[in-house]
Parts: sequence; C-alpha cells; structure tokens
Amino acid sequence: MTRTADPVVEQIRRAAADCASLGELRDKAATCVGCPELVVTRGTVVPGDFPAGARLMLVGEAPGAAEDENGRPFVGKGGQLLDRLLEEAGLDRREIAVANTLKCRPPGNRTPSRAELHRCRGWLDRQVELVDPRLVVTLGGTALSWAMGTGHRLGDLRGRVHGWRGRTLLATYHPSAALRFGPNGAPMAALAADLRLAASTLVEPG
Ligand code: URA
Repeated sequence: MTRTADPVVEQIRRAAADCASLGELRDKAATCVGCPELVVTRGTVVPGDFPAGARLMLVGEAPGAAEDENGRPFVGKGGQLLDRLLEEAGLDRREIAVANTLKCRPPGNRTPSRAELHRCRGWLDRQVELVDPRLVVTLGGTALSWAMGTGHRLGDLRGRVHGWRGRTLLATYHPSAALRFGPNGAPMAALAADLRLAASTLVEPG
C-alpha cells in the first residue's frame, strides 16, 4: 500500500524547526490548526511546562479534561499521582520539563490517531532540542512509540536506561495505568521504581 505524504506533517516540522526558543514554539503551537477535529473540540492547546535549565523531561500522551481546561500538562488525577511519586523519588516537578506527544486533547480522551501523532511530533521533537535535557522519561506506550517507534514492549524496555539521540531515555508506565491497576498493582511499583532510577541517573557524573 502506498502512503500519501501528509503535507501538514512537513509544515509543522518546519514551523517548529524555525523556533529559536521554547516561548516562540509555545506561541506558534498555541494557534496550530494541523488536526481539523482537535481544533474544533479542544479548549486550550497544552504545549507543556519548561522550567529553565531542566535536565529531566517527561513525555506523556495527550492532555485530558483538566489539562485542556488549565493549559498545563498533568494537572488532573494522573498528574497528582505523578507529583507525589516524583517527590518520593526526590525529584522536584518545578525543575522538570513536561510535555505530551499531542498538544491538544482528543475528544472524550480517545487514543490519539496515528495521523495526529505524526502531525504533532514536529513540535515535540523541537521541544526536546530546545530543552536539551540529559534524561527523557516516556510515560506509557504512546510516548514510547514516539521515541522508539512502534513494536516495542514497555515491559521489555522499562527498568533501565537507553541511549537515545545523544541523551539518555527511560521508558516507564503512564500514571493512568498505575491508577487503573491500583496502589498494589505492578504499574504503580514500576513507575515509582523507574522515577527513582531517573533521580539516580541524574546525579551520576554525565
Ligand atoms: N495524560 C497525559 O498523557 N498527559 C497529560 O498532560 C495529562 C494526562
């Protein structure tokens, strides 16, 4: 099957590549009209949080209802869990860059489509370059596919760090999986352990 090239993918990639700063990218992404359905259904675009000098960058899937209302990533139930586990691992959310593979909430929190992910990745790829973090932590399968391509099993990759685009990458569970399986479920323990590994990786001489 031949795949028709999507011109929007290249338009967004170019617009993002032209951004010299995270602020410029935020402003451009805020008016993105790349995905016709999401433009209509979104409340706010959620570019991400980018504290100056962040050495750790977390990448989730897409904004949910709370984020769509708020304009910031991971501020709902999953975000509260994430904040608690970060703190327990000795990490301060205020020093961490946080972004998503999609900048707009898919209606009803449906899974992002492949076309949407493909279009939006130009923003995220450029955000990684501009943040220039030492360590990227992907949360869940969608973010893992963004980083490593499809066909990888999270269970096979988590629990250790990987070399990635000249940086270090750690793939772990999404907080929503930890919430779904509950406090005694495997994803909660794995997410907590992986965030502790992230903290210890950041203090190693780099
Ligand atoms: N889930 C995500 O993947 N990202 C958010 O920002 C919120 C919930």
